[in-house]
Amino acid sequence: MKTITISRVMGGLVTLTLLLSLFGTSAIPASAAESRNIVILGTSDIHGNVDNYDYFTDSVPTGSAARGLTKVATYVNQVKASNPNTILIDDGDTIQGTPLAYYYEVLHPELGKNPMAETMNAMGYIASTVGNHEFNYGSTVFNAFKNKANFKLLSANVTGCRDYSFMPYVIQDVGGVQVGILGLTPPAVVHWERPENIVGCIFGDAIDVANQYVPEMKAAGADVIVVAAHTGLDETYGYGREENFAKILADKVPGIDVILAGHAHALIPAKPTDLPTIVNGVLITEPGYHTRNISDIRISVTGSGND
Ligand SMILES: [Zn+2]
Repeated sequence: MKTITISRVMGGLVTLTLLLSLFGTSAIPASAAESRNIVILGTSDIHGNVDNYDYFTDSVPTGSAARGLTKVATYVNQVKASNPNTILIDDGDTIQGTPLAYYYEVLHPELGKNPMAETMNAMGYIASTVGNHEFNYGSTVFNAFKNKANFKLLSANVTGCRDYSFMPYVIQDVGGVQVGILGLTPPAVVHWERPENIVGCIFGDAIDVANQYVPEMKAAGADVIVVAAHTGLDETYGYGREENFAKILADKVPGIDVILAGHAHALIPAKPTDLPTIVNGVLITEPGYHTRNISDIRISVTGSGND
């Protein structure tokens, strides 16, 4: 049984609440009659923004345009202080987009600095999905980021690459609740990326791949299934299902609890005070871009099981 509560505003950030009541067999001890409250915080389309600075206008953004990992880090720390059973994940398009990132990643890798990986390490990210822009600078730059990262780089539907390897999913123990996080990348990368940056890569259909992995994750003990899909809500624009497939995922893949969407730079819901977006019983949220916002997902697990 699932109960969805209304969204609420916290600090101008997207805040959503999802309550799950789970029954059946599970890794959660049967004696755990009390509910367990966990929090999943999600960013997407950071695009190289560490500090609140707009390099293209040489100014400090204010109001809703304020941005950067340092902005949401304050919020992340507050949430973690109030509930240590909090995890932080990202949904891709992470390493490309500011002169800061470009300087260290592309122009001066010999300095050995990687602002994105180092900041995300400091914030305690556990996983980040590979977005389309992760391929832009080729494998040397991406793999330097990956090697510096203390978190997993996820993509279940990109396989066979000569120069990259990604994990399809992680299962993280969060206060006794096993949270499975599946990463999906838009197959439309093949239409955008230079061939030399994706040698050998097979971009599988995200829905087919999710239907393969969600049962595998449940069999491996996942109580809650989160799909960090670097994709917009609706397939009616762009490259259709190859680019924006969040709604199709919710409709066509049984067993998903939450979809963290991205890529479209949209806010889902449009305003923090709006009702959560629920499609076929699946909570879909997207935190916009440049870490101007963050998705805050509250899950209460009672009983036991991964049904
Ligand atoms: Zn994207």
